[in-house]
Amino acid sequence: MGTKGRAIVGMDVDELIGLLNRAYADEWLAHYQYWLGAKLVKGPMKDNAITELMEHAADELRHADMVAERIIQLGGDPVLTPKDWYEHTNCGYDSPEDPYIRVLLEQNIKGEQCAIEVYQALMQTTRDADPVTYELALQILNDEVEHEEDLQSLLEDLDLMVSRK
Ligand code: FE
Ligand code: FE
Ligand code: MG
Repeated sequence: MGTKGRAIVGMDVDELIGLLNRAYADEWLAHYQYWLGAKLVKGPMKDNAITELMEHAADELRHADMVAERIIQLGGDPVLTPKDWYEHTNCGYDSPEDPYIRVLLEQNIKGEQCAIEVYQALMQTTRDADPVTYELALQILNDEVEHEEDLQSLLEDLDLMVSRK
């Protein structure tokens, strides 16, 4: 923990660590949802979907890393055991019980929309209180906005392809 780095935070640091741990749990669950979805996905345009889902899985793991680093900088512990991810998560986990591409894309779009709300809220909370976390949330938000659009355009292409046959 950096003492001065922690001292300049203009809000309750434990509360901030709590918010970051919620986002941290979200990122791991999102990582797994994408990673497993990429293994199971079936249907038209499957190969495009696998590429996109695997890229997003890697991005979510990178986000988990970024959030963990910030939690540790602030003197906190990232959620110590996977079974506690469910207690902390904002966005939950949608298991890929139906591997059809359309269903998987819709599940993941819903997850991205939740993530966008989470980082938007984190930016609002930290805007004046903690520019370091604000900047982190902004970087991640940029990725989540891109993820949502990637999946929605894939879904659009899928619908065009299916409807024009
Ligand atoms: Fe993410
Ligand atoms: Fe994402
Ligand atoms: Mg992408």
